[in-house]
Amino acid sequence: MQDPNCLFCKIINGEIPSTKVFDDELVYAFNDINPAAPVHVLIVPKKHIADNNQIGPGEAEIAARMLTVVPELAEQLEIAEDGYRLIMNTGPHGHQEVKHLHLHLIGGAPMRHPMG
Ligand code: AMP
Repeated sequence: MQDPNCLFCKIINGEIPSTKVFDDELVYAFNDINPAAPVHVLIVPKKHIADNNQIGPGEAEIAARMLTVVPELAEQLEIAEDGYRLIMNTGPHGHQEVKHLHLHLIGGAPMRHPMG
């Protein structure tokens, strides 16, 4: 199930180019076009899910895959040992710009804590 007007659905379909980092039957991961750190990857479900509020029991396998792929990617991207941040923005107060669920995997440099 995809949304023909969704940017990330177009990326998953290859209609819009991206730098692939990982791909399986449930998720696709690619480099963020405007990286916040040396490593900045977006992990997205192949199914169109608008945001975290749309995750229910039916999405359990997808949601789990979005997280269980992280250690694999962290190894591949050589950030496992030094660490990284995972961010999922939701809605206007969460500054979510793209309305297709995505997990930011950010690493490669020390980062300040957002809460000060
Ligand atoms: P968010 O604010 O959580 O919705 O983050 C959306 C992210 O998508 C931002 O970090 C953007 O830089 C990224 N982004 C937008 N368009 C593209 C694109 N065509 N390819 C890769 N990343 C993108």
